[in-house]
Amino acid sequence: MKTVLHVEQLSGGYSPKRAIIHDLNMDIKEGEMIGLIGVNGAGKSTTIKHILGLMTPHRGVVTINGTTLEEDVELYRSSYTYVPETPILFDELTVEEHLRLTAMAYGVPQEQFSQRAEQLLERFHMTKKRKAISAHLSKGMKQKVMIMSALLAKPSLFIIDEPFLGLDPLGIRSLLEDLVEVKHAGSAILMSSHILSTVEHYCDRFMMLDQGRIVAQGTLQDMLQQASQHSQQNVTTLEDAFYAMLNGGEA
Ligand code: ATP
Repeated sequence: MKTVLHVEQLSGGYSPKRAIIHDLNMDIKEGEMIGLIGVNGAGKSTTIKHILGLMTPHRGVVTINGTTLEEDVELYRSSYTYVPETPILFDELTVEEHLRLTAMAYGVPQEQFSQRAEQLLERFHMTKKRKAISAHLSKGMKQKVMIMSALLAKPSLFIIDEPFLGLDPLGIRSLLEDLVEVKHAGSAILMSSHILSTVEHYCDRFMMLDQGRIVAQGTLQDMLQQASQHSQQNVTTLEDAFYAMLNGGEA
């Protein structure tokens, strides 16, 4: 499988003098969903901002489909969609207009747009709200607009920062099912989340960050194995592994 996201020896932070993330390495291939996990302040969002090209690394390389941001800004940025933790929408645009805008930005042809937009509105129970301006949407509905826009664009790489906050259980289920679908269609997904009991069942591999460094990575089995070396207790879930690795070794 082709590598979509390649991160090599990435270090960076908010000031040139102080690194927040240190020597990160990761590869995400087509059809893979990776869970980025770690305590508050571990550096997940900072890592994501570097991958998005919103922050300049102190050191290291990030490529999407083999291209760096410097080599081709437009190609790089059109290769991913980003769903931030807090929805960012245009207050005066309707749900439908947001979807149309995304379709235009990502060059989705008109027929495909109409079909996909209808499906997404239905799946996320937003058909009745299609004409509502975003200022009049609930928090979870705003998050759904961001998610539907990302799914509509169908890029090579989805970067999703803590997507479950604010979504109702039906929305969470629709999101996860759709992510599995885009993954099977060949997209790569990097998703940060604290909802370990959910991501445990969906991600192919995990990356655990602590103080800006990767402290464990691999499949669920790999994570459990690595964590059990830090604990006297039975480590059977991702949450156990998280406690064992990040809570002073007590699972
Ligand atoms: P959370 O789970 O709480 O979202 P996170 O793993 O995403 O946490 P980051 O937001 O990447 O953590 O924060 C990593 C470190 O960077 C923290 O020490 C934080 O205080 C610092 N930091 C975050 N944003 C900024 C900023 N804009 N300027 C300076 N330091 C920042």
